[in-house]
Amino acid sequence: MSLYENTQKLIVRAADTMDLMPEVRVVMNEPERILTVDFHIHRDNGKIEMFRGFRVQHNTLRGPAKGGIRFHPQVDMGEVKALAGWMSIKCAVADIPYGGGKGGIEVDSAKLSGCELEQLTREFTRAIAPIIGPRRDVPAPDVRTNGQIMDWIADEYHKIHPKEDDYLAVVTGKTLENGGSLGRDSATAAGGVHVLEAFLETKKEQLKGMRVAIQGFGNAGHHAARILQEKGAKIIAVTDSKGGIFAEDGFDPIKAHNCKLKKGGVGECLLESEGSGKDQKEISNDDILALECDILVLAALENQVTIENAENIRAKIVVELANGPTTPEAHEILEKRMITVLPDVLANAGGVTVSYYEWEQNLRHEKWTEEQVAEKLEKSQKKAFEDVAKIAEEFKTDFRNASYVLALRRIEHAFLEKHSAAAHGFSCSNPI
Ligand code: NAD
Repeated sequence: MSLYENTQKLIVRAADTMDLMPEVRVVMNEPERILTVDFHIHRDNGKIEMFRGFRVQHNTLRGPAKGGIRFHPQVDMGEVKALAGWMSIKCAVADIPYGGGKGGIEVDSAKLSGCELEQLTREFTRAIAPIIGPRRDVPAPDVRTNGQIMDWIADEYHKIHPKEDDYLAVVTGKTLENGGSLGRDSATAAGGVHVLEAFLETKKEQLKGMRVAIQGFGNAGHHAARILQEKGAKIIAVTDSKGGIFAEDGFDPIKAHNCKLKKGGVGECLLESEGSGKDQKEISNDDILALECDILVLAALENQVTIENAENIRAKIVVELANGPTTPEAHEILEKRMITVLPDVLANAGGVTVSYYEWEQNLRHEKWTEEQVAEKLEKSQKKAFEDVAKIAEEFKTDFRNASYVLALRRIEHAFLEKHSAAAHGFSCSNPI
């Protein structure tokens, strides 16, 4: 099943649970706007090369479209549509005034020089400029895009709209020197930990002493490991695409991360982390999923827990920092097995929430401290969990379905507001 079909399945399930209005079902079924652009750059070898890119605005009933731009050879429209739909749901769960968007370019950006990458970004920005803007559609980084690339987008947009005072707010995830927000780097992980803590509070349990395994040791995964350890949890295993490490009595994830930065893969880090965890062993990505632990954090890619391996999961709680790491069928198996899943649209919403703070700072020409950002994020993620938990209780359903119900309720509300205002305010220009 494709990512798009997965997203639709989750939306339909929640729509049935809450009896969503038929009109909003239609609204959620397809994006509002899809833009495909073909553009070219001049390669360093003098040749001209064409590229294809996309920008999808899934829904803007609650505010401007919001969502990342990925540079990847396998980017396709189905994937971008699915990811844009997830953003509509996620922004509504976090209750930030955005709709959902996503974009991407089919490109192996690792094969481009720095200059070619800048040209690619600027040409793509020109191509999508007619539909983006601080109050229309606000892109952000995603797979293989970063702060520097966001800075180029803001700058190119400014060249096109030199009179726009608020141009920095056209993208988030910019570098700190160019209007980025403090606290964005660790926001996704920190937000996931807040949701986890809020859930544990309902069970009168504490993170302290809990055994944690983390699949994916990149931005989201390594910050999660650090924060969880700071809060007293024991990191017993981490993996990345090249392998991983496991120690029954835990190890220091900061040392492991520093070693990964040097060696390129955390699986290479047994010796480097010596002393911080006895009896370390290598562990594969299949084995980490089947590890006996309290908490399994999924922070790598989509479709990792599937119908084939869901029966093997032995964690009590799964925290989804990645987007779509559990297929809908695998989710059903985990639920039947009484494993609690803190779903992506709730658990990883800290990233987009701090992006929203960046946008607000840019629009107000302010600069917030790291403490201000962290405090607001904690409140926001804990409130999101409480809202989801109430719906879960009301409909006797799991947190994933409850998150979707909460989001659809908020989107339905925006739809009704918009249409009741339009019904009263509309007058025909030329009645016949
Ligand atoms: P990243 O590229 O920094 O890290 C991804 C990590 O996953 C890397 O360590 C990589 O080696 C590892 N990985 C890749 N394939 C793997 C596999 N098969 N098994 C185990 N590990 C594998 O990316 P990130 O920013 O940390 O994002 C991770 C996930 O979280 C993605 O799904 C992303 O969409 C999602 N997410 C990230 C943010 C954010 O702010 N970074 C926000 C929301 C969602």
